[in-house]
Amino acid sequence: MLQAGFDIGGTNIAAGIVDEDAKLVLKRSIPFPAGEPYQVAVEALAQLLTEMTEELFVPVSSLASIGIAVPGSIDQASERVVHAYNLQFHDVPLRSALMGYFPSVPVFLANDANAAALAELYAGAFVGCKTAVLITLGTGIGGGLILGGRMFNGGLGNGVELGHMVLEHGGPLCTCGTRGCIEALCTATWLVQQGRKSLIEYPHAMIATKAGQVLSNVNAKLVIDCAKAGDAIAKDIFDRYVDQLGSALTSCFNLLDPEVIALGGGVSLAGEFLFSPLRENVKQKCFFKNCGKIVQAKLGNDAGIIGAAMLAKN
Ligand SMILES: [Zn+2]
Repeated sequence: MLQAGFDIGGTNIAAGIVDEDAKLVLKRSIPFPAGEPYQVAVEALAQLLTEMTEELFVPVSSLASIGIAVPGSIDQASERVVHAYNLQFHDVPLRSALMGYFPSVPVFLANDANAAALAELYAGAFVGCKTAVLITLGTGIGGGLILGGRMFNGGLGNGVELGHMVLEHGGPLCTCGTRGCIEALCTATWLVQQGRKSLIEYPHAMIATKAGQVLSNVNAKLVIDCAKAGDAIAKDIFDRYVDQLGSALTSCFNLLDPEVIALGGGVSLAGEFLFSPLRENVKQKCFFKNCGKIVQAKLGNDAGIIGAAMLAKN
């Protein structure tokens, strides 16, 4: 049986059809109709799915399920999107709206980070695991948990907000309004902020030179590249980043004793330059002598659609 998955983002809607082994057999992407009522997006989903199934010569009604991942919070019954700020979806009955087009196919709804963790369980870094943590290091922090071999959506159904666990009491202000969250200290955004600060303090150092003295040219990759090239100022920023992220991961290991923590998102592309000192950092801080592995997430941009497609199995 085939299953369909949608990953709705503020820029694009990605769609995929996967087989029983969570392998993608077809993938498409269309622009998200920003600024339109949600019904326009739902109609676009329905049309896209119809076209994709036609391409595979199967009717939509033969699909085992349809899953939708959104960057926001879902109500306890998994019927409605409570808030998805990037999509301007507020209290949207997304599940019933799509079922209106395909009444015979079960539709499931989830947060995109949770869905990504589920995708890693079926087809990526968490295959065979019972307890695992996914953390995506981007502009913000995304995260999902696998507990007891299933996607965990919080005890009260509010989801999991790994990025807003407090890492430094009274630390820098987070986007959520609290201080010292993991999101305030472990994102690509933190690397960018520190890189820009250094550009003013050290105008002759490598970050400033490579950025042509222009603040907006400083991104996380530039800071990481300068650290890789051995620049002392960039290396100092990167070492502090590893230390902060190491503390965040240590807390996850101490809380859940997971078999694996997988890191995704842009910063994780630094590869062993990040992972090797990070493992060493966690080894020194973790309560357990034999804590789980720290690996790169495997599914990248496809995680949302694969996870959405696998929701029925959760
Ligand atoms: Zn926060």
